[in-house]
Amino acid sequence: MSGIRPTGFLHLGNYFGAVKNYVRMQDEYDCFFMVADLHSLTTHPDTRELKQHVRRVLAENIACGLDPEKVALYCQSHVHETGELYLYLNMLAYKGELEKTPTFKEKVRLQPDNVNAGLLTYPVLQTADIIIHRAKLVPVGKDQEQHLEMARNFVNRFNHRYGEVFPEPFAFNFGETLAKVPSLDGSGKMSKSENQMATVYLSDDDDRIRKKIMGATTDQGPTKLNSPKSVYIENLFLLMRLFSDPTIVDQFEIEYNNCTVRYGDLKKQLAEDVVAFVRPIREKTNAILEDEKYLADIMEKGAEKARNSARQTMQLVREAIGLQYY
Ligand code: ADP
Repeated sequence: MSGIRPTGFLHLGNYFGAVKNYVRMQDEYDCFFMVADLHSLTTHPDTRELKQHVRRVLAENIACGLDPEKVALYCQSHVHETGELYLYLNMLAYKGELEKTPTFKEKVRLQPDNVNAGLLTYPVLQTADIIIHRAKLVPVGKDQEQHLEMARNFVNRFNHRYGEVFPEPFAFNFGETLAKVPSLDGSGKMSKSENQMATVYLSDDDDRIRKKIMGATTDQGPTKLNSPKSVYIENLFLLMRLFSDPTIVDQFEIEYNNCTVRYGDLKKQLAEDVVAFVRPIREKTNAILEDEKYLADIMEKGAEKARNSARQTMQLVREAIGLQYY
């Protein structure tokens, strides 16, 4: 189970941290993937663009290879049972631990005038989203690791108090470590709403991608053989390993190590490889967005699958808590 907030256009980080794994998981597991529209309200209370963003996230997931026939692809707000589970879990979550969460502190810094209770209890709602399907694996990027740890704490408290209902959920990635796709300016990760020139979106046209990558921050270049790489160059190589032919990347590594590397050439190569990767996804997304009925059908079918699963879990939850009186 996993989700993406409809707070903007999807980017390469969302692809490698999340969607790529969704697409591989769909053939091996029983999967639930949602557009986390309720989560977006904690930071984006203005809903004028919400509908458009929800549709785009769905279309981009499908364009990346997600098959709505194989998985439940749905909107968070269509599964009302999650709200009930969130309420029960809130009784098991403590103010102190929620206030200590790094993502909460970061959001308080970013939006000091809107420190709402939803922001504080974000990890609780996220736990409810996951365990409403009794999910065990949660394909997410590295930034979500801590939230998964909190989810396991809430699950263990619930099971301890009311009996074993939920398995412990773990962050999942097909690779060895969770992905973190860095931003092009060397400051943190690519992200939907911040840092737009340092983030490559799946909707960017060819020239915009080239412009962003050619504008990536670099350093003065190596002056000694085999010198360690600065974070900017490390990031460029990391991106290159995701998109470019390994023999080409190896060649640039050799050139870096013997101080003959030309960052302009490296960025040009990376730009063309990213353009070739993004173009078909962008074109497919645009075609899907044309078909309103198709997207509406997908949302309806996905919600039905998710609600079926959620209803079964809530039956167990109410019994375990002792809320059945006749
Ligand atoms: P954003 O941070 O861009 O708003 P979300 O919070 O909606 O994205 O996250 C959706 C998924 O994408 C999560 O699984 C998250 O871990 C993953 N993700 C977001 N940014 C990155 C990144 N730069 N690298 C790897 N994974 C990422």
